[in-house]
Amino acid sequence: MQLNENIKVCSACGGICCKSSGGLVFPEDFGEINLNTLIQVFKSGLYAVDYLDSRTNEMSSDYYIRTRLINAKKVFDPKGNGQCVILTENGCKLSFHLRPKGCRELVPNPPNCYFPNNSINLKTCVEAWKPYEHLIEEAFRSIDEY
Ligand code: SF4
Ligand code: SF4
Repeated sequence: MQLNENIKVCSACGGICCKSSGGLVFPEDFGEINLNTLIQVFKSGLYAVDYLDSRTNEMSSDYYIRTRLINAKKVFDPKGNGQCVILTENGCKLSFHLRPKGCRELVPNPPNCYFPNNSINLKTCVEAWKPYEHLIEEAFRSIDEY
């Protein structure tokens, strides 16, 4: 795992990325994926399900998982923008290797922090979660009580 962490640079920035959206989570962040895994991570209060809307891009509508936002009312939180619940005034409360892939792979380079090779974005995140979309829906519905 490449260590992109740069505490000096990110402290000076104040966490603009973490204050604007949740970090993108990929299946490998949770290990083996099954219904119980997803229910447990959603119950932790740290993660949310978001939704990529086909009306605004070329892809079909699909779920993806990111960290939860402080103003979120439910696990299913489509189109959420805001501050990640894991951010504290001293920075991210997760150690680097426990952060979501979308956080670990962001290279601090303000004002143009970037993902190498554009490997991390909403499209690659949705594609990664595609095999689990029915499990994701069942898990968040059981908690949000839809
Ligand atoms: S990764 Fe970039 S935007 Fe995020 S806290 Fe660090 S410098 Fe700021
Ligand atoms: S998990 Fe940590 S690094 Fe990722 S968005 Fe939240 S506070 Fe920022």
